Amino acid sequence: MTDIEEKLRERARQLLESEEVTEVIAWGAGRFVNQTTPLFISEPAQADEIVFNDYCINILAKYAFTEQGAGRVAVAVRGCEARGINRMLADNQIKREQLFLLGIPCGGMKERLSGETLDRCKSCTHPNPVVYDEMLGEEPEGAFETIVASQTARFAEVEAVEAMRREQRREHFDEAFSRCIRCYACREVCPVCTCRECFVDQQRAGWQGKQNNLNENRFYNLTRVFHIADRCVECGECARACPMELPLMEVNRKMIKDLNTLFAAGEEGLTSELDNALGRYDTGDVEEFM
Ligand code: SF4
Ligand code: SF4
Repeated sequence: MTDIEEKLRERARQLLESEEVTEVIAWGAGRFVNQTTPLFISEPAQADEIVFNDYCINILAKYAFTEQGAGRVAVAVRGCEARGINRMLADNQIKREQLFLLGIPCGGMKERLSGETLDRCKSCTHPNPVVYDEMLGEEPEGAFETIVASQTARFAEVEAVEAMRREQRREHFDEAFSRCIRCYACREVCPVCTCRECFVDQQRAGWQGKQNNLNENRFYNLTRVFHIADRCVECGECARACPMELPLMEVNRKMIKDLNTLFAAGEEGLTSELDNALGRYDTGDVEEFM
């Protein structure tokens, strides 16, 4: 058992016993040793079901939104969860007093795919939680070097796509969007996709067509990326959840890169203050297209 796992179990048990929270959201064992799954517990005796290891790849932030209403909820948070939670607080989608955040310093997660072990977090710039009520451990050694390397890796895929010729780029994204089955898993797990009624669920004509073809898939994916453009916290959960392995972070990060260049937008979710790059207005803004 890891040190963090032990502390998580202990605090989860105490918080439920003292009735400070009604539910704890963390990770539980998956089918295999290299898999875990989100875990929701409401009884102190269930605390021993919590696991924490290098394979906790599900990002729990969205559950702070979907599980609200049942009293105060404790959530295990690393950098990715914390940034998602900050963003939902900024969007007024959750209430801080309804959450108890158990901070976990993160050394990066791995995933086993087709017999290979992949580093899931090579472009993460904030492994440690940026908001928490209680920290359960110390920052791992080498954390600073990881962050520096991540800043370089962050836009590598975007730059590769930018270097393509226009037709190549079109082919690249047409191939990707034609694989989309419109299961909306990317939307469901995203901490910044919190509309009560999503445009794709509209039944009236003129919104998202129900056909599954390249045009409709392209419309869905590009509309979604514009909708979350200045709010995406780069957690990568949409790409992880996509069963068709669409390169969703390429489009998300292209928007982020352009927003950084045009509006010095910076990284999202570092605080719970509302500061949308696309929501700011200044009379000196350039309006070349007018
Ligand atoms: S998760 Fe993947 S396949 Fe499903 S709607 Fe999103 S992009 Fe399409
Ligand atoms: S769009 Fe993807 S990477 Fe961005 S916040 Fe949503 S799930 Fe995370």
